[in-house]
Amino acid sequence: MNCPVGQSRTDQHSSDKLFFSYQQMEPVSLPPLSRVAICGGTHGNEMSGVYMVKELQKQKADQTGSVSVTTVLTNPRAVDACRRYIEIDLNRCFTDALLSAPVTDSTPYELRRARELNAQLGPKGSPEAVDLLCDIHNTTANMGMCLIFYSLDWITLHIYKYIKSKMTSTPVRAIQLDIPNSEAYSLESVGKHGFAIEVGPQPNGVVRADIFNMVREAVDLTKEWLQAFNSGNTFAGGEVEAYTLVRSVDYPRDPTTSDITAAIHPQLQDNDFKLLRPGNPTFLSFSGETVKHEGDELYPFFVNECAYYEKKIAFHLARKITLTFPSVSVKKD
Ligand SMILES: [Zn+2]
Repeated sequence: MNCPVGQSRTDQHSSDKLFFSYQQMEPVSLPPLSRVAICGGTHGNEMSGVYMVKELQKQKADQTGSVSVTTVLTNPRAVDACRRYIEIDLNRCFTDALLSAPVTDSTPYELRRARELNAQLGPKGSPEAVDLLCDIHNTTANMGMCLIFYSLDWITLHIYKYIKSKMTSTPVRAIQLDIPNSEAYSLESVGKHGFAIEVGPQPNGVVRADIFNMVREAVDLTKEWLQAFNSGNTFAGGEVEAYTLVRSVDYPRDPTTSDITAAIHPQLQDNDFKLLRPGNPTFLSFSGETVKHEGDELYPFFVNECAYYEKKIAFHLARKITLTFPSVSVKKD
């Protein structure tokens, strides 16, 4: 189940009287969130999630007060090989269409694994699905701590607001992908509520203590919020800023060979979420020419993400929006 869509608006219209403020939104009661899944290793070379899940399994912390926690190393073969995936990207396998496609001898390992995970943690869209699914990822981009989610979900927005208010070691941002749940392709869409934790910069196959600690803090804060929610706390409504994907930009390429002909410009490298204006440098070609940004002012993210070279993405561009959400409390029987 997903909550109704919140009011959103672009930042150019923040004083627009047409939009509701959260003080005008009716408080919402929602069922308890007692079954939570914490997942890592969906990409087998993103080490924070791999070691966070192994650590939680070592601690046998499968019950925290009112919350039962399932921990899953989701792509064990890719983890063993320290690769993103074995045959295809597992985190693109969770659309309704792929989860229901017939299995044949040639079905890739990750599609089979997606079905197992859907049976264990879902089924996606059903009452049996876990109440919250949190999947841990790393990026090689300098993105700090991001929560990535699909539909505008009151629970996810409240957890985001809570983590952001408590974490001081790094910027905490929200990224919203405007995709219907049936077409949502990543693991967190299997839960009734869900988000990905995306933290960087960290190279693939490497674990950094500073990044690991950010993940640990976000996981602890999520569990803390769930406990407080289940025990009857009311969380006040509010507004948060989020980044919503507008488009992706590929590297300049040789039209004959398709080889890339430029790298991310030094003035863009490591400057994720810094507003990109027309004329700002985006690429520096290997022969020394600067390529400049054209079109709207937008916010770059996933800048020079290692895993996106094969997807022909040099960086994504986002628009900043404001999301408004009501007070929430647990529904009592
Ligand atoms: Zn990942």
